[in-house]
Formats: sequence, structure tokens, C-alpha cells
Amino acid sequence: MVRFPNLSLVDHPLVQHKLTLLRQRELATAGFRQLAREISLLMGYEVMRDLPLETVRIDTPLEAMDAPLLAGKKLCFVSILRAGAGILDGLLDLVPSARVGHIGLYRDPATLEPVEYYLKLPDDVAERLVIIVDPMLATGHSAAAAIDRVKQAGATRIRFVCLLTVPEGVGVLQARHPDVPVYAAAMDRGLDSHGYIRPGLGDAGDRLFGTK
Ligand code: URA
Repeated sequence: MVRFPNLSLVDHPLVQHKLTLLRQRELATAGFRQLAREISLLMGYEVMRDLPLETVRIDTPLEAMDAPLLAGKKLCFVSILRAGAGILDGLLDLVPSARVGHIGLYRDPATLEPVEYYLKLPDDVAERLVIIVDPMLATGHSAAAAIDRVKQAGATRIRFVCLLTVPEGVGVLQARHPDVPVYAAAMDRGLDSHGYIRPGLGDAGDRLFGTK
């Protein structure tokens, strides 16, 4: 997309099909959780397609060979509580050995600004490629605040993955962090007066955890 050169929309048909199922009001909690995990796994394939490889010598049952393995310190996934869990599970299916950090941010309902209440990152986060996850990139303020914290911890290689975004959210995020590539499954129309993505999928945390 021309306006956001650092935004990748993952338009794989399986992602788009599953996203349509995920959006639907009548989908129950278990189905929502399962689909979010499947979409995230498929998106992870795209987000991590350029990971560096190194060649190692291995023995198959028949002979020795040089074969590719992921190189260097591995990944750190950082989940923005609580809805980030819906994406985290799918990425961990792909890379079970990744380290995981958590950032707790809630939106002040009056200002829509993020307030931090929890932060736990691996000690060596600065040496890892960090993939921050939150299903809804809405106002962009929570995502930008999460990236601030991760950069303060020393990380320099950061990507952001969401399911849905809107022009406002990507605009805010890329103005504050132009060095961070953003991956989304879809760009929706815009935000309503409560900061919800329209047409969207509702409150991702409530739908993941069945809290409403
Ligand atoms: N967070 C959500 O869960 N849904 C939205 O539409 C926006 C932010």
C-alpha cells in the first residue's frame, strides 16, 4: 500500500477466509480462539520468511549432509496483554523455542491513551528479533507505547503483527516508529468514537476469553 510503505497486508486466501469466519458475531469463544491461532500461524510464516539461516553438518540415517538451520540468537515474541495471547499461541506453534515477553497496557477509556501495568521481557531481548503482537492495531497508541518499552530495553530489530488495523492506527505507529514493519491481515475502514475498529470483529480480548 502506497501510503504505508512499511505495512504488509497478508492476503493469502486461507488468512482472508479464516478472518471472515473470525469476524462473525455468532462465532463462539472456542472457535474464535482456534481461528485466531490458525491465522496467526499462517501470518507468522510470512512475518518470518526472511530469517537468516546457517549451514550445519548433520547425519541422516544414510549419509552426512550440509543442511540449513536458523542462525544466531532466536526470536522473542512480546504479547500485549491480554488479547495478544490470541496471536502468541499461533506464533509459538511455529517457533516453540522463542522467548516470550509480556506488556500489560490498558486503554484509559476517557483519553484512549495506554497505561502500563505490567512489563516482563527476557534479559537478552536486545540481541533478539522482537515480534510484538496485538490483534487490533486501533489508535496505535498502545502499540507505539509497547515499542517504546522494547526499544528502552535495547531491542533494535522489531516487527509488529496484528490481525486488523485502520489507517489511523498504522499512521500513528509508523510516524512514531518508522523503523518497525507492520503486518496485518486486513485494513478496515476506520475507528468509531469509542476507538473500536469498524467493521472490525468487536473486542478481541472479550471474544478470546469469553468475558462478555
Ligand atoms: N481493541 C479491540 O479489541 N477491538 C477494537 O475494535 C479496537 C481495539
